[in-house]
Amino acid sequence: MSTLEIRDLHVSVDTESGEKEILAGVDLTIRSGETHAIMGPNGSGKSTLAYSIAGHPKYTITSGTVTLDGQNLLEMTVDERARAGLFLAMQYPVEVPGVSVSNFLRTAKTAIDGQAPKLRTWVKEVNAAMDRVHMDREFAQRSVNEGFSGGEKKRHEIVQLELLNPRFAILDETDSGLDIDALRIVSEGVNRFTAQGDRGVLLITHYTRILRYIKPDFVHVFVAGRIAEQGGPELAERLEAEGYDRYVRAAAGAV
Ligand code: ADP
Ligand code: MG
Ligand code: MG
Repeated sequence: MSTLEIRDLHVSVDTESGEKEILAGVDLTIRSGETHAIMGPNGSGKSTLAYSIAGHPKYTITSGTVTLDGQNLLEMTVDERARAGLFLAMQYPVEVPGVSVSNFLRTAKTAIDGQAPKLRTWVKEVNAAMDRVHMDREFAQRSVNEGFSGGEKKRHEIVQLELLNPRFAILDETDSGLDIDALRIVSEGVNRFTAQGDRGVLLITHYTRILRYIKPDFVHVFVAGRIAEQGGPELAERLEAEGYDRYVRAAAGAV
């Protein structure tokens, strides 16, 4: 078993008017085998949390720790974090003109494993992964995410997830912009990933609808840069009925 541990994490970004604190003390422990849902309103800092764990240079960690099995993740490069078993599916996957999906996947796999995958079995694996999310195999030759629809970008994230098969996956609004069929296909991919066992998922979402397909063990309400409440799956149902309003008002009153 592995543990991803976030302790009192404070994160700022540089803005024109100076440094602005976005994360105001996040505590979260995810063990491999657990699925955690983070739910919160727009602008509460969910993506900032995802990027901070993954090592995006735009974010400054002002205090706190992030460790993976006791190893300090914050001292690692983005590549080292990936090799340590971390994967981030971004809310807005970046387009990489001139790099084919096929090359991108193979390069990522090689970097993580420390050796290139055997070509024949690899091509079969890629094809199978694309088939599973109903992505046309022609996408393998297209530039990464260039001209992909929102849904195609999210399916491509799931292809990466399944092929790279990390220990911990952070999925940032992998459900946003999906129609009901794509939502089901993407959710099934996440469920195949967790069904292997010993995998941890941090599922960041704004809506409860993906939780009809992916059953979290823990639900965290994220407001104003910190976790305002945590509970089990029943907390998601309460959010569905009540919305974030009372948490937002409580957070505003607490300042
Ligand atoms: P969420 O994913 O929950 O919608 P984000 O993490 O994207 O929230 O953003 C949290 C807050 O941080 C927002 O108010 C956003 O405007 C602000 N923010 C993020 N990046 C920057 C930046 N580079 N400059 C100024 N504000 C930023
Ligand atoms: Mg603090
Ligand atoms: Mg976001």
